[in-house]
Amino acid sequence: MVETASAAIQARITELRHLLQKASYAYYGLDAPMMEDAVYDQLYHELVDLEKHHPQLITADSPTQRVGERPATQFVSVEHRIPLYSLENAFDPQDMETWDERWRKLTPTLKTEIHYVTELKIDGSALALTYEQGLLVRGTTRGDGTTGEDITQNVRTIRSIPLRLNTEDPPDWLEVRGEAFLGLQVFEQINRDRNQAGEVPFANPRNAAAGTLRQLDSQVVAQRQLDFFAYTLHLPDPTSDLSLPKTQWQALETLQQLGFRVNPNRRLCPSLAAVAQYYQDWALQRLDLPYLTDGVVIKLNDLAVQQALGFTQKFPRWAIAWKYAPEEAATRIEEITVNVGRTGALTPVAIFKPVQLAGTTVSRATLHNRDRIAELDIHIGDTVVVRKAGEIIPEVLRVLPELRPPHAQPYPMPTVCPSCGQPAVQLDQEAVTRCVNASCPAILRGSLIHWVSRGALDIDGLGEKWVTQLVESHMVQSVADLYELTNEQLMGLERMGEKLAEKIVGAIATSRQKSWSRVLYGLGIRHVGSVNAQLLTAQFTRVEDLMAADEGAISAIHGIGSEIAQSVYTWFQTPGNQTLIHRLQTSGLQFSVQTPPSTYPQPLSGMTFVITGTLPTLKRDQAKTLIEAVGGKVTGSVSQKTSYVVVGAEAGSKLTKAQSLGVPQLSENDLLKLLPPIVFR
Ligand code: NAD
Repeated sequence: MVETASAAIQARITELRHLLQKASYAYYGLDAPMMEDAVYDQLYHELVDLEKHHPQLITADSPTQRVGERPATQFVSVEHRIPLYSLENAFDPQDMETWDERWRKLTPTLKTEIHYVTELKIDGSALALTYEQGLLVRGTTRGDGTTGEDITQNVRTIRSIPLRLNTEDPPDWLEVRGEAFLGLQVFEQINRDRNQAGEVPFANPRNAAAGTLRQLDSQVVAQRQLDFFAYTLHLPDPTSDLSLPKTQWQALETLQQLGFRVNPNRRLCPSLAAVAQYYQDWALQRLDLPYLTDGVVIKLNDLAVQQALGFTQKFPRWAIAWKYAPEEAATRIEEITVNVGRTGALTPVAIFKPVQLAGTTVSRATLHNRDRIAELDIHIGDTVVVRKAGEIIPEVLRVLPELRPPHAQPYPMPTVCPSCGQPAVQLDQEAVTRCVNASCPAILRGSLIHWVSRGALDIDGLGEKWVTQLVESHMVQSVADLYELTNEQLMGLERMGEKLAEKIVGAIATSRQKSWSRVLYGLGIRHVGSVNAQLLTAQFTRVEDLMAADEGAISAIHGIGSEIAQSVYTWFQTPGNQTLIHRLQTSGLQFSVQTPPSTYPQPLSGMTFVITGTLPTLKRDQAKTLIEAVGGKVTGSVSQKTSYVVVGAEAGSKLTKAQSLGVPQLSENDLLKLLPPIVFR
């Protein structure tokens, strides 16, 4: 349906076109992208969407009307025998169904069962190779799909491309298409070399491959070790001795016989459900491949059906690329709110238009502190790139200043706490803005949430929702108040039932049995995470000993530095905190180790460990203390006698030595599993 376009929509369309054109030139013309592919794709689809609703605004020079980029002028242009188009993109099962319905409608008389061939979508650069009488005579880039660049000299350097076909009686000509790419290891090596030579590193393997193919010096290309997977075969009809494949599956097999590398991870799927299974199966497995893939490509197997369907202006109708959810996306900041945590830190949080990131919908991300805001130069209304890699929480990577609305204002950090209204302070050394009001409800709420959390007192059933109500109703003004709550009081909370109230009061009562180290951790003293709490309570087995210790005695513990010691010392010297300890003691919580360290089980006795690299959470000293507490020995160098080497990030020569001696390796997690529960849990 054609809708009338407001001035704002027209402006947005112009803005998007301008930006996409600039990005496209940087990407194809300079092999130096100015934005992430996921961001480009998203802005591109926003434009497609706007043009779909307002077709009267489509212009011939819109990026959506072009197939690819015009070939550069350095190489001779050649016209493709058969157009080399791009692929339509699908992002979810719904897109796949729409595509499926569309091609089925176009082939109403089709009687045969249709199969789909699924292949990995290799993230490289498309090549068309022409063979005459079995010899490689031309290699071209895709260019704009009709005309590409002749880069034969460079193509000849790729070892996985045969210069002569493996057949006795080749046809007069044949054409092979496939993807030239760089393996991840080679890519990293190229960028290390470029860094050393003071050159700008490539943004990603795809650009590195495209840039390499268009190098004027073939010597350089040869050094770069490009690789190639073939995926399409075009043969004249009829051919000499090669029997014409009838399906894409057979074509892939023929390509293999002719001497090409064909990706082995393909599958013949009888239904869309089987296609979805293939997509799922490779969602994680692909991360272990030595090259990058960004989706899977689905093609109708029957070549006669493919031919009948043909192409749109940009894509084959018989194929589609189903992309994996990007880990980066562009979105617009709608507002910035501020959270107050249990330490009083004011954390600005960006609230943006929801976007899909790595498979989940995301609408907020932390902006950390005022320094980060200044560094990003964030304005409300800015379009920003957000990212979520693996399990990591979403973060705002950068602003796209080209898309900043004219009157956007920079964001100032608040000068008062949004929870209690008291002035927020900015300590000189810190980037963090803090509320220092000890009775601030937001701080109390944060402290309670921490106290009841799994790693601390583990009070099941008392979630954030209830904690908030307890604070707001002033029923709880300190963690010690939890131990005086009754069923009846809890039932006074909105929507609290009798059963749940009973369960929560029971869980609070049971938490009295939790260990001294959990209690210490639960108090939320700065720098005292669960590991430091273990280290402190192993040494100071009673709270009275810790309260009596000076900073020197605390920092004498292996793994406890002076900053931590100072924080612990100050905390225990504060009268309000001493009162809290006293109240909790009276309530029956554990403030001493039940089993003295000398009687810890010693499962690691007789074993020798070497620690190398940076461990994800433990400092080396901390790991050492934990190992020694249960009988293990930690030494500085690897030998035949080493039982295990504990390996962290950027491990060096110790790891190499361990590998050469066949010493088994442990991750931090593996090590923690070796420790008896009393020490670590
Ligand atoms: P595409 O990469 O989304 O898909 C088509 C390509 O997939 C084919 O040309 C082929 O090379 C490749 N492919 C890999 N495996 C295949 C297989 N098994 N079978 C068939 N084809 C296979 O589309 P495109 O038109 O090549 O490139 C558009 C992409 O370029 C977009 O994803 C966009 O992100 C990127 N781009 C980025 C910027 C930027 O600024 N970052 C600018 C312009 C374009």
